[in-house]
Amino acid sequence: MALRRFEELRHMGQLPSPAGVGLRILQLVQKEEFSLDDLVSLIQGDPALTGKLLRAANSPLMGGLSRIASVRDASVRLGTQVVVNLSLGFSIITHERQGRCENFDYDRFWSLSLVHGVAAQALGRACGLASPTHAFTCALLIRVGQLALASTYPLEYAAVLSNVRGRPAGALLRAETETFQIDHQEVAAELFSEWGLPQIFGQAAGRWQSVRHDDELTDPELRDLISILRGAEVIAELCVGGTQPQEYWYPLLASCRLPQTLSLEERVELVNRVATEWMEWGDLLGVPARRLEAFDAGVLHAALRASSGSALEAPPQGVATASAVPSASPENAERLRVLAVDDDPVSLRLLVHHLSRAGFEVVTATDGAEALQVAVDKSPQIVVADWMMPLVDGIELCKQLHAFEAGRRMYIVLLTGRDGDDRVVEAFEAGVDDYVTKPFNPRILLARVSAGQRAVLQRRELELKTKEVERQKNTLSILSRRLEIAAHTDVLTGLSNRRICMERLQEEWQRSLKTALPFSVILADIDHFKRINDQFGHDAGDQVLREVAAVLSRTTRLEDFCARIGGEEFLVLCRGTDGVGAARFAERLRAAVASQVINTSAFSGQVTFSIGVAQREASMTRPDELLKLADLALYDAKLAGRNRVTLRQSDEPPAHSRTA
Ligand code: GH3
Ligand code: MG
Ligand code: MG
Repeated sequence: MALRRFEELRHMGQLPSPAGVGLRILQLVQKEEFSLDDLVSLIQGDPALTGKLLRAANSPLMGGLSRIASVRDASVRLGTQVVVNLSLGFSIITHERQGRCENFDYDRFWSLSLVHGVAAQALGRACGLASPTHAFTCALLIRVGQLALASTYPLEYAAVLSNVRGRPAGALLRAETETFQIDHQEVAAELFSEWGLPQIFGQAAGRWQSVRHDDELTDPELRDLISILRGAEVIAELCVGGTQPQEYWYPLLASCRLPQTLSLEERVELVNRVATEWMEWGDLLGVPARRLEAFDAGVLHAALRASSGSALEAPPQGVATASAVPSASPENAERLRVLAVDDDPVSLRLLVHHLSRAGFEVVTATDGAEALQVAVDKSPQIVVADWMMPLVDGIELCKQLHAFEAGRRMYIVLLTGRDGDDRVVEAFEAGVDDYVTKPFNPRILLARVSAGQRAVLQRRELELKTKEVERQKNTLSILSRRLEIAAHTDVLTGLSNRRICMERLQEEWQRSLKTALPFSVILADIDHFKRINDQFGHDAGDQVLREVAAVLSRTTRLEDFCARIGGEEFLVLCRGTDGVGAARFAERLRAAVASQVINTSAFSGQVTFSIGVAQREASMTRPDELLKLADLALYDAKLAGRNRVTLRQSDEPPAHSRTA
C-alpha cells in the first residue's frame, strides 16, 4: 500500500530531491566504480558547492592545520564519504529551503534536521556503536518525508499540522495516514531507497519514531542506529526549542537508551559540544542555529542531575526502602506538595493551616478550573479538593486530572458533605482515592492525607526500581553489543579484524554464487614496513598503520568491506565487481596511500602499497582459492618492484604485472 501511494506521490512531481550536482553525485556513488577524480570534477562544476566544501574543509571542526584551497585537497582531508554526505546535505538544503505549506516551518525544519545530524554524529562517536558519518547523514535526512508531504500537498498538510500541533509524533503519523494513506516515515524510507542510501538508513527511517520498545528490534545494528537517532532527537529538540519548555527534555535525555550509558559529565559535555558544532554548521549552510541560555554547563548539569541522578545514584531524600516506608509524622516525611482546593475561603484557610503544620508544602486554588492550572504548573503529589464548587466541581476536576499522565499519579482526597454518602460511589468511579466529610476533623483529614503520602512514596519507589531494572537491561545490552563490536574490530586501526573478515568473505562468496554476480578481493601490503619499525620505532610503525587504515576506510565505498588481516596486510572485499574493476579501484587505493603524507613525532613521509587483485573464477570451489590467487598476485607485485597493482588469473603464468 505504502509503495503504491509513494508511486502516486512521485507522479505528482513535487518530491524533494538533491538538486543538480547532488543528484549526479548520488548517481555517481551508486556505480560500482567511481574515482575521486570523477567526484572532484563534478563538484568543481558547481562554484557554490565548491565554496561551501572549502569552508567545511577549513572549518576548525575538521581539525586541519594548513589552509586548503582545492576541492581535491578538501576531499583528501575530509574523506570521500564525508564529501558525498556534505554535498547531498548542501544540495537538498539549498534547494528546499522555502515552500508553500503555510504551517510548515521550513527554517525550524532545517535547523532541527541539522542539529539532529550533528547530535547523532556526536552520539555515534561517544558510544562507539555506529559510524559517526553514517549517523550524521541518516539523521540529517530522516525528516525528509515531512518535507515531501508538505511539498506535494501544501494545503492538506497545513491542516494536518494545525490539528496535531503540540501533540507527540505518533499523532502526526496517524493523522498523515488518515489523510494521505501514507505517513512521513514511509515516504522517507522510499526516498532513501530511491536515492540509493544504505539499506539500514531506509529501515531506520521507516520505523524510528514508531518503535515503542527496543526489544521490538531484533537486528542489533538497526537497534543501535535507532537509539542514536532517538537520543539525538532529544538533544536536537533541546537545542532548537519551541515545542516544549526545556525542562521537558531533561528527563527524556536522562532516560534515552544511549545517553544513559554516558556519565553525567559526558552528557553535559556532549550537549554543549553539539550546540557549538551546530552553530558552526548552521553558519556554513545558512541554516538558523542559536545557542540557548540553558547550555550554561552549570544549569545543564544541575538539570540533568535532577532528572537522572535520583534513579542512578543516591535515592532522593525521603524515599525509603520497602521495609521502612516512612510514617506520616512530619519529622521524617519528605515535604510532599499538596494542592488544597476550596471555594470557601474559611475552609481553605483551615486546610492550609493544618496541612502546613503537618509539614506539607501547600499550594491553593479557589475553584476547579484554577486547580487544574495549578496542578499542571506545580505538579502536586496530593490533591485535597472540595466536592461542591461552582463551574468545575470536585468530581469533574478529578476526571480532568485523570485525563493526563501526571494527573493520574496524583492522590486525590475529596471533601464531601455529610449527606453525600450515596454519591461516594460516583466519586470513586471518577478516580477519587479517598474522601473526608465536611466540616472535617483535622486529625482524620491528616490521617487520610498521610495514607495518601504513603501510597505516593510506595508508587514512586516502585517506579524507581522499574526504571533501574530498565536501565540495567539497557546497559547490559549495550555492553554486549560493544563487546560484539570489539570482537570484530582490530584494536589498533578500528578496521574490521581478520576473524570477521573471513566470515564476510564466506558470505560474499555464497552471495556471488547465488546471484552469479562477479566478486573480487584486493589484498594490500605495505612496502618495506619493517624498515619503519627498525628506523623509527614501533610506535611510529603503529601510527603509520593507523593512518593507512584511515586512508583505506575513507577511499572505499560504503558497500565494500575492508579489514586488517595481518601485521601490515589489508583485505578489501568488492561485491559485484570483476577483476578489472577491482584493479582500477585498487589503483586508486594505491595512489591515495602513496600521496598521503604521514606525520608522527619520529617519522614524516609517505609509504606505499603493493596490491594483489583476484576475481572469483568458475573453477574455484572455496574462498581460500581466491585468497591464494590474490596472494600470488601480491607476490608478483612485490617481485616487480613494489608500489603497484597486479591482477592475476589462475591460469596465468606468474609475474604478469601491471605497473601502476
Ligand atoms: P615487504 O615490502 O616485502 O612487504 O617488506 P616488509 O618489511 O613490509 O615485510 P615484512 O613481512 O618483512 O615485515 C613486516 C613487519 O611488520 C614485521 C613486523 O614487525 C611488523 N608489524 C607487524 N604487526 C605490527 C604492528 O601491529 N605494529 C607495528 N609497528 N609493526 C608491526
Ligand atoms: Mg610489507
Ligand atoms: Mg606482510
